[in-house]
Amino acid sequence: MIIEIIAPSGFCYGLKRAIELLKQKHAEGSSLYYLYPLLNNEKELQKIIDEFSLIKLPRIEAARDIKNGLVIFPAHGAKHDDVAFLKKHQIKFFELTCPFVANNYQRLLKETRKKYFLGKKDHMETKVAMSFGPDIIPLYLDVSHVGSLDGKNAIIYLQTTLNKEEVDDFVKKHFDTPPEISYVSICPEPERRIKEALEASSRNDLILVLGSKSSSNANKLLSSLKEKRHALLLSSEDELKFLPLRKYSRILLTSGTSTSEAEINEVNRKLEALVD
Ligand code: SF4
Repeated sequence: MIIEIIAPSGFCYGLKRAIELLKQKHAEGSSLYYLYPLLNNEKELQKIIDEFSLIKLPRIEAARDIKNGLVIFPAHGAKHDDVAFLKKHQIKFFELTCPFVANNYQRLLKETRKKYFLGKKDHMETKVAMSFGPDIIPLYLDVSHVGSLDGKNAIIYLQTTLNKEEVDDFVKKHFDTPPEISYVSICPEPERRIKEALEASSRNDLILVLGSKSSSNANKLLSSLKEKRHALLLSSEDELKFLPLRKYSRILLTSGTSTSEAEINEVNRKLEALVD
């Protein structure tokens, strides 16, 4: 059996950067606290919690008990009210915000036209964008909207992990007069993975997408590939034993942006051992 690992795979640029910053903060010796999951992959999150001895805060108010340490915010940003609370109480914090996401927020904040933010309702980026103020009108991709929306002299900013097709479909369905759409808000990383995996899919007869079942970009990658080939989402190498692997002569491995290279290598090793 031939196993092909597609590039790019493993953590995206924003998460690699966040982990490097975490390493630096950990080496400085202060205790690190977090409020929100640092990434959307339970297994990888647990590894990070263990490696950096991260301590979960049940709510922002609990940060008042921190004696020597700082609160870490994830790659998808920090909510305005959380930051305001920490500043008010002079509690140290550090933002791991991906530069791509930060840039999107900066443009959103400077925008003077009527502005919408389109994202998944429970996604961290949507929550952060909504915390910036009531002038940002929320639009949720995964919640039905009733009636038509006004796009005159308006612009839509986007959760960075959406893709152009789903945004265009949403706008076509809900706006009589289409607003401007900030397509530059879309991070190219998930789309690049879909493109590379689609190209490689024709030379493989099984595609394994590594990622969490709750990760929107891993699910998007899976659904794009499923149209072409037999593709499955694998959240742990333990699931390999349930697959009829000997049926396949070529397997393609790819991943969502919240799965590390170490995890992909681990699955690769396990695959080789199972078919040996
Ligand atoms: S998916 Fe893109 S926007 Fe999100 S953290 Fe990774 S690089 Fe940044």
